[in-house]
Amino acid sequence: MPHIEAQQRAVAINRLLSMGQLDLLRSNTGLLYRIKDSQNAGKMKGSDNQEKLVYQIIEDAGNKGIWSRDIRYKSNLPLTEINKILKNLESKKLIKAVKSVAASKKKVYMLYNLQPDRSVTGGAWYSDQDFESEFVEVLNQQCFKFLQTKAETARESKQNPMIQRNSSFASSHEVWKYICELGISKVELSMEDTETILNTLIYDGKVEMTIIAAKEGTVGSVDGHMKLYRAVSPIIPPTGLVPAPCGLCPVFDDCHEGGEISPSNCIYMTEWLEF
Ligand code: SF4
Repeated sequence: MPHIEAQQRAVAINRLLSMGQLDLLRSNTGLLYRIKDSQNAGKMKGSDNQEKLVYQIIEDAGNKGIWSRDIRYKSNLPLTEINKILKNLESKKLIKAVKSVAASKKKVYMLYNLQPDRSVTGGAWYSDQDFESEFVEVLNQQCFKFLQTKAETARESKQNPMIQRNSSFASSHEVWKYICELGISKVELSMEDTETILNTLIYDGKVEMTIIAAKEGTVGSVDGHMKLYRAVSPIIPPTGLVPAPCGLCPVFDDCHEGGEISPSNCIYMTEWLEF
């Protein structure tokens, strides 16, 4: 508003701030003002300053949410008072509590209308904090089946070995499309989710991946490259120490006895020991 004098602008902004109509934010270039959601601003009418402060802290936490203990550190209010305010804000449907997969007893608070971040919900593999192992197993089998069928069709084409090999590859987009069309997932899966499943097949030694350059805009390409996958079968079954799982394990550094990932609850280690 260059046509309004700076002094007048400051008066107007200060008045809107005191009426609780604007949020004041800081950026590298200076102060920024943001109009408050009129619906929420209306709902916050009549709230005392402590409630407004807690609401502001929760709003700033975005869709990752914030733990009540962190609200306490940021607000300097006693926990009993915070719990009372949180209950009040929840009953007004201004905020909601979401269970975090990171800790079973940990609830984080975020604005009511926000979709929780994947780090809170665990993404497609979790339902109500529980890891959906059966669902992951079915996806795993279906992805592998798709790649196996593709490899078999390539073999049956009786073309030269190079063409057979190349045509046995499928992009992660193709696998993703196949899985979506099967309709086995209640949740919407992204291409990244499919790649996570394909990665487990790579770690199991059933699939190999190659990355090729792709023209910008090609379906399934990201940043000018595309991931291609194909089913592989070992020429001779490996024996003895060769298939020891730890050598290829992507979570080797996080694995230790007594930890969340440990040799005593590792299915790969159990299978190897039974071998
Ligand atoms: S025990 Fe299992 S989880 Fe741990 S490093 Fe070995 S393979 Fe990985």
